[in-house]
Amino acid sequence: MNVVLVEHADGAATDLSLQALALAADLGGEIHAVVIGPGGAAAAANVPAAVVHVAEHDALGAFAPDAWAAILCSTAERIGATAVVAPGSGRATDAMARAAVRLGEPLAANCVSITPGDPLVLTRVRWGGSLLEEARLHAGRALLTVAPHAVAAIEAGSPGSVQSFTPDLADVDLVVSVRDRVAPPAGGVSLADAKVVVTGGRGVGSAEGFVVVEELADLLGGAVGCSRAVTMSGWRPHTDQVGQTGNKIAPEIYIACGVSGATQHIAGAKGAKRILAVNTDPEAPIMSVADYAVIGDLHEVLPAVSAELRRRRG
Ligand SMILES: Cc1cc2nc3c(=O)[nH]c(=O)nc-3n(C[C@H](O)[C@H](O)[C@H](O)COP(=O)(O)OP(=O)(O)OC[C@H]3O[C@@H](n4cnc5c(N)ncnc54)[C@H](O)[C@@H]3O)c2cc1C
Repeated sequence: MNVVLVEHADGAATDLSLQALALAADLGGEIHAVVIGPGGAAAAANVPAAVVHVAEHDALGAFAPDAWAAILCSTAERIGATAVVAPGSGRATDAMARAAVRLGEPLAANCVSITPGDPLVLTRVRWGGSLLEEARLHAGRALLTVAPHAVAAIEAGSPGSVQSFTPDLADVDLVVSVRDRVAPPAGGVSLADAKVVVTGGRGVGSAEGFVVVEELADLLGGAVGCSRAVTMSGWRPHTDQVGQTGNKIAPEIYIACGVSGATQHIAGAKGAKRILAVNTDPEAPIMSVADYAVIGDLHEVLPAVSAELRRRRG
């Protein structure tokens, strides 16, 4: 028997969690799921697992990674799970690292395939996505996270049963928790959900230069992203950053403007179905991953595309 951490938002399991459930199926055996906190019971109704365990506790309104770790460890222990699988989100990875410390077991992060057996044979994404590693996991209880957007998500569906429980949480489990949230500007499309992402890199030249990137994103109903060179320059907030140390996104099309295409950047855009590069340099590394390219100055190309879109829409 194995257990999967299922994160939820707006009453439904997240896509990354459905990807984790899909990969966990390769372990064989019955799959249980754990959902945590307010809204968990509603989300559980569409989690396709044999049993969904819903952790309910007054203190779970805000994300607390040690509390999540405690819940994962106690649930795994209670049901005798041989593996604990989690989505590759920041929160789940944080909680799983803490669970690994509690259990004294290794954590295998960013898995993309599993061959059951003893030891488990895993394929993991390493080095910002530039390398696939085959690893053998020797552990009493396997702790795995699933690389974002590398595995097709399982369809949402009805669970066999849903069981609510109140986890036993100590004060120390709640010392680290989210105390405040800064909401993005209202009305925008989030990078995580956007079907179109228009990203600007150092080639944009300045914070003010992003006007042309924002305009195109707006016309396409998309979100604005940026590279780390941009966040390091203070032109955009880190919440806009795409890459190994930023957001991992999966839009239908990724329009990368003035971005060289460093492996650490592309690590965040690997889930994109198509990449369009706009760059003055035909030899830029991004050309090796781009499906389409426009060789030119983004400050000429983007306004021209935006003007044409506006003209066609009358
Ligand atoms: C541990 C680690 C983690 C990292 N994590 C990330 C991460 O999460 N995300 C990330 O992005 N980077 C990350 N980096 C940094 C990464 O290695 C690169 O330095 C960074 O992505 C470069 O950003 P850039 O492409 O915007 O800038 P540059 O590499 O300077 O590229 C600028 C590009 O713009 C083009 N250009 C210039 N002017 C124009 C113009 N007018 N029109 C069109 N094109 C133009 C140039 O030809 C060039 O290709 C990380 C690095 C490390 C070591």
